[in-house]
Amino acid sequence: MADVVLRQVRKTYPGGFEAIKGVDFAVGDGQFCVLVGPSGCGKSTLLRMVAGLETITAGEIEIGGRVVNAVEPADRDIAMVFQNYALYPHMTVYNNMAYGLRNRGMAKPEIDARVQEAARILELGSMLARKPRQLSGGQRQRVAMGRAIVRQPKVFLFDEPLSNLDAKLRVAMRVEIRKLQRRLATTAVYVTHDQLEAMTLADVLVVMNAGEVEQIGAPLDVYARPATTFVASFIGAPPMNLLPLADDLRTQLGGAPAEAGILGVRPEDLVVARGTARSDGLALDIVVEAIERVGPETFVYGVRAGREPRPVVAGKPGESSGGEIIIRIPGQTAPALGERLAVEAAPYSLHLFSADGRRRIA
Ligand code: ATP
Repeated sequence: MADVVLRQVRKTYPGGFEAIKGVDFAVGDGQFCVLVGPSGCGKSTLLRMVAGLETITAGEIEIGGRVVNAVEPADRDIAMVFQNYALYPHMTVYNNMAYGLRNRGMAKPEIDARVQEAARILELGSMLARKPRQLSGGQRQRVAMGRAIVRQPKVFLFDEPLSNLDAKLRVAMRVEIRKLQRRLATTAVYVTHDQLEAMTLADVLVVMNAGEVEQIGAPLDVYARPATTFVASFIGAPPMNLLPLADDLRTQLGGAPAEAGILGVRPEDLVVARGTARSDGLALDIVVEAIERVGPETFVYGVRAGREPRPVVAGKPGESSGGEIIIRIPGQTAPALGERLAVEAAPYSLHLFSADGRRRIA
């Protein structure tokens, strides 16, 4: 069993900066776990601690039932794939993949079998004699993965492996990585700041912010029931609309728990009202300020009519996203700029959070 378990893991860098503030999570054998969060939240630090490239200030990391805090990286039975591939430029693709195995003194036939098998899986068979400079970015990334695969590790660790690729290739490689992991059934921990990549790859999503875990869960559960306003605005694009739960909105909702201070509604759950306003749920009048047509759908940005744009609570309490309300409409028909629009959302699509955004209430 190659599960990965973190218990109260902390990291304080020399100089006193607390990059990881007590993190707990468990990845089951064969699961794909994605650590996602904004730049600087500590996800690379955490991954490097699992890899053994960074010391652990406090807590415990277990891989396959063994506490590895004091185990050297080479003895942890992991293989890491980096953002910058780190291929040896003077070696062929074959030798790049074989290098680590030779270093361990593995017998030649075994090395050859493993390299050929990895090349077959990754469709690199015709490129084994090439040097990295003769490959495309996506092919180089596949070689980097091949180097991890031949080691047959208990756990794959990925540190933003796709962020150097262009958008189209990134999507293609994302699908390949997922297929590959399903096929090899190897436990994986994958770091990215891209929420879409995280949503599509993860069995287990770990959303991080400022050195702490905000939420752990299956991607669609996290999307449907974000635990904090940070998660609500980080997962999903465009982000969830977050409005201060003022008296008028409370009345409209027919009351709300006293501890609720923020109302959340996803852009796709706000629809243009037809006929009379609904008597339950949310109804808002907005003035259209901007429109983005992206093809299959249109994003409409507005502010509530008759009010100063009020700061909406975004990622962190007090961090304004500009007071905008965003609506996502299928297709390309859109209202005109400056138009006043009645929009509404059903009661079951609404989210309530505490005033500091740290707690989900309903
Ligand atoms: P990114 O997506 O930008 O790589 P990240 O979430 O992976 O961000 P880390 O690289 O883990 O973030 O860094 C977490 C925090 O720790 C950052 O604030 C960073 O400045 C700090 N940090 C990282 N390495 C060191 C170090 N060697 N000494 C002091 N602080 C560090």
